[in-house]
Amino acid sequence: MGFGGFESIFDTFFGGFGGRARGPPRGQDLRFDAEITLEQAAKGVTLQVEVPRTRLCETCGGSGAQRGTSPKTCSTCQGRGQVQHIQSTGFARMVRIETCSKCRGRGTIIDNPCKTCRGSGATTKSGRIDVRIPAGVDEGYRLRLREQGDVSLEGGRPGDLYVVIHVKPNPEFERDGDDIIHRVEITFPQAALGTEIDVPTIEGTARLKIPPATQNGTIFKLKGKGMPRLDGYGRGDELVRVGVKVPNKLTTKQKQLIQELAKEFGDNTSEKKSFFG
Ligand SMILES: [Zn+2]
Ligand SMILES: [Zn+2]
Repeated sequence: MGFGGFESIFDTFFGGFGGRARGPPRGQDLRFDAEITLEQAAKGVTLQVEVPRTRLCETCGGSGAQRGTSPKTCSTCQGRGQVQHIQSTGFARMVRIETCSKCRGRGTIIDNPCKTCRGSGATTKSGRIDVRIPAGVDEGYRLRLREQGDVSLEGGRPGDLYVVIHVKPNPEFERDGDDIIHRVEITFPQAALGTEIDVPTIEGTARLKIPPATQNGTIFKLKGKGMPRLDGYGRGDELVRVGVKVPNKLTTKQKQLIQELAKEFGDNTSEKKSFFG
């Protein structure tokens, strides 16, 4: 596992959850960004994620009041956490509902706050969670772990934990959906006469037969050597793109042989021409 970062997210994350649910507010959702390798994405992996979550304070059980005492019902809102303001303007009667400012919506007042949590009722505690990442995930894949986020201090459901997957770039493989693209270079003699080469795949190496007269840019397909499909049915392919390389440096002998070959082909090369002759 590479890195992990946390941030708190509100209902607006991922475009919202379709309006506010009724009942006490849920705990906050958490987001964890996990970086995995392409091999891990291909096989699936279980990540052990340290999640610092808000939990109920163990000293006071979440009440926020010192042991032996208990929170009092707020006299301003009678424990409802909300107050109504009624305004009459002419014939209209407007009811405005606001969060109680005295208890800040909790409905209770704490005279003797718990020393551990200073009256908040919550502590942040790290906990290890096993997160099973299925085989075939791609960059940006999101996993939702229900109720693994922050606890709700108002008695609602805990928030959810979102794990967002990032797949590290791999120098050997380029991904195209379920397919994997790999580039190899062969020499001109290999391309002209044919050869057999070893190519890396996501699960080891495979033997690839290059037939004679293979053109530059030819793509060979290694069936089923790509990424597994997320739904569990089948796999993509590995596409091997063959490039014919031109050597950077030639020995004198190699140069002579290529010149001879060029003559045989009737090719005009700059080597043949002499600048002054
Ligand atoms: Zn406490
Ligand atoms: Zn109140």
